[in-house]
Amino acid sequence: MLKKSPFENYLEILSDSAKILNLSDAVIEKLKTPNKIHQYEIETSTGKKFNAYRVQFNNARGPYKGGIRFHPEADIQEVKALAALMAIKCAVVNIPLGGGKGGVQCSPKELNAEEMQDISRAWVQKMAPFIGPRQDIPAPDVYTNPQIMGYMLDEYEKIKGKSLPGVITGKPIELGGSQGRGAATAQGGVYILLDYIKRIGKKPEDLTVAVQGFGNAGYHAASILHSHGFKIIAVSDSKGGIYDKKGMNPENIFNGKKQFGSIQDALQAKLDGKICAESTCCSPDFISNEEILEIECDILIPAALDGVLTIDNAEKVKASIILELANGPLTPDADNIFEKNNITVIPDVLANAGGVTVSYFELVQNIQNFYWTEEEVQGRLKNIMLTAFSDIIDFSIEKKVTLRRAAFVLAVQRIVKAMELRGQI
Ligand code: GLU
Repeated sequence: MLKKSPFENYLEILSDSAKILNLSDAVIEKLKTPNKIHQYEIETSTGKKFNAYRVQFNNARGPYKGGIRFHPEADIQEVKALAALMAIKCAVVNIPLGGGKGGVQCSPKELNAEEMQDISRAWVQKMAPFIGPRQDIPAPDVYTNPQIMGYMLDEYEKIKGKSLPGVITGKPIELGGSQGRGAATAQGGVYILLDYIKRIGKKPEDLTVAVQGFGNAGYHAASILHSHGFKIIAVSDSKGGIYDKKGMNPENIFNGKKQFGSIQDALQAKLDGKICAESTCCSPDFISNEEILEIECDILIPAALDGVLTIDNAEKVKASIILELANGPLTPDADNIFEKNNITVIPDVLANAGGVTVSYFELVQNIQNFYWTEEEVQGRLKNIMLTAFSDIIDFSIEKKVTLRRAAFVLAVQRIVKAMELRGQI
């Protein structure tokens, strides 16, 4: 079967929400169409050329907000879908921001540090007229990080000739980043998960977790959950994963990956006797990135890329809870299968919204030029995440719909209300 694009998936769930909300065709058309698409070719000093994008989807509730992805699959269709999802996500957690997304279609693993910096600066040179603290605020996403945000801030401020740290979030703390931003995506998801397992009468010690993806979201999720007593039995990165039913310490895996390049290379190094047992996990087995999704566990956390759980493998998933830390890891078909099989899916637009929520805090701190402590950030993040979750649970019970449908309907309702109040529809 032909795989649907992320944007087609967005349209499907949008039309589902539109039916529940009884929206007119004219309104649906507006919600399907991005406000602006900026698309350029950028070049590194070594002469490599790449497509660069910024899609500004909807700003009815506030300035456009959303990350910039450096990835070979970051084409206009993908960036458009992710921009739409950012508008939904900001509305789900009810922060005063709209939705946008950026991308550069490139393979970061084949680029050196200088080329990465060139790409970052070139992206800003093209997009500078369209971004700004009151206009559109980018942030990190797949294969972009605080260092890249630092280059981008520098380039933007050079162009504008003044200090404007609120143009971009996810910055290093030294450049106006917020406490807690690094782990925020995972932390927000953990707040929801802890609340959910309490509601169903379970304890962390009794639950096993598999995490696909060991980047910013996946690593922090594994680490925070481990500190709460959950048993982390499987983790993977883009090269593959490892599994140990006795549980593993994510810090050791992180150190092994740092030293040897990938999780599996670290395990291989241990098997070859290159590192001592203490510096890595117990005695895990190798598993593939496909196997990790089907492993016997209680909680599955897809924290890498979109479209990994589909009609082809959804029936094989054994977890009873899926926490979507990646953007769009489930296709709508897979979602239907999980609903039928009574698997609870905590949807991406809620589960990973902690990242953009702390980005919002970062923007607020930059604008007021007054900074909060880690405790203040955590308190506010927890409050926003749990309020959103409680609204969504209430709605899903009242309307007898899944958490994803409830989240989308609430978000679309909020966006439509803002558009109505502006007289746009
Ligand atoms: N890239 C993250 C996301 O998809 C964060 C976006 C932001 O902080 O603006 O939610």
